[in-house]
Amino acid sequence: MAAKTVKRYRSLLFIEYVLRKNYDQVIEIYNEFASKYAHIVNLGAHILEKENIHFPMELKMMQVHYELALIRTTKKLCNIPTLKSFIYREMNAEHTQKAAILKIHLVEALRVSKEYDHAIDLERKLLCLPNLVEIEPFETAASLFISYLERYRVEKHQSPQSASKANNYSLVKRVFDIIPVEYKRTFNDDNLKQDFFLALAQWSFLCHKLGDEQHALDYVQRAIIWVEFIARAKWKFRDHCFTCRQKSNTSSKLQLVCRDCRASCYCGIDHQRESWMKNEVQGTRLGHKVFCPVLKVFRIWMEAEENGDEEREAKMERRFKRECIAFLAYGLGLKDKCFEAKDFAS
Ligand SMILES: [Zn+2]
Ligand SMILES: [Zn+2]
Repeated sequence: MAAKTVKRYRSLLFIEYVLRKNYDQVIEIYNEFASKYAHIVNLGAHILEKENIHFPMELKMMQVHYELALIRTTKKLCNIPTLKSFIYREMNAEHTQKAAILKIHLVEALRVSKEYDHAIDLERKLLCLPNLVEIEPFETAASLFISYLERYRVEKHQSPQSASKANNYSLVKRVFDIIPVEYKRTFNDDNLKQDFFLALAQWSFLCHKLGDEQHALDYVQRAIIWVEFIARAKWKFRDHCFTCRQKSNTSSKLQLVCRDCRASCYCGIDHQRESWMKNEVQGTRLGHKVFCPVLKVFRIWMEAEENGDEEREAKMERRFKRECIAFLAYGLGLKDKCFEAKDFAS
């Protein structure tokens, strides 16, 4: 009985936190659960044998999402050390997968709260774990890189002079070492992984200054491939809301489509606004505003391909590549708070 109740509330919290991003609602639902079922909250571990083996973890997941919602809405940060050690412990134990998802959520919440040092500390520790699941070392490295970049952007914005070239150079060298150069990964269309490909594109573009001419060509080329991958994934899921990733009902008149690129749609005005200046979902400061031109050219390119217009197709492919470089060089998408590739020249 208790397990069923927990499962029901657990999925309610999941929908509100992960899908709808409605953090106030998460807090409300959890408070309702905690007051109605105080005995369950207090006796979690005790019911383990009688009920479901995953029960304590489910309960813990609920509490963690509640804590994360508090961080996002009230910027209440006192529970960060507890959350960090919980996730670190679980990543080292049997609940690796679930802990990995919670880790992603915690890191996002920390970035949104500009608690970059906490995010970096957690990710660095996790990178040292010996038993990470196959994909995890890459994702943790990419995520760590995003945290470094976000911290850098904020620091530079607060005090542009302090970001010396030597510091920038050491940042790039550091991230150059984190992400394995020969990382081989089968491309897949998993819509949720776009932020990692964005990290790779930025990493590759930043590192293009670290070698000779051939190195530069290779790394810029690689960066373009990653951006193209993101554009393809977004194009493939263009009937899903860009913010919450829920599938839109194409017959619905309420569906909002970006006027410029006509390739991104939203379930509502709130989600369109949310993705314009920054992508709060991934806790990064890169919004649709800067990606929109890339997507627009990509759409025209895809339409030419569909119509079998080869000349136009080739022309659009070239234009797309130029647009990718502009996107990467334009402070990696941050017009006035950003760094540029030249900041990183040695
Ligand atoms: Zn949405
Ligand atoms: Zn657009």
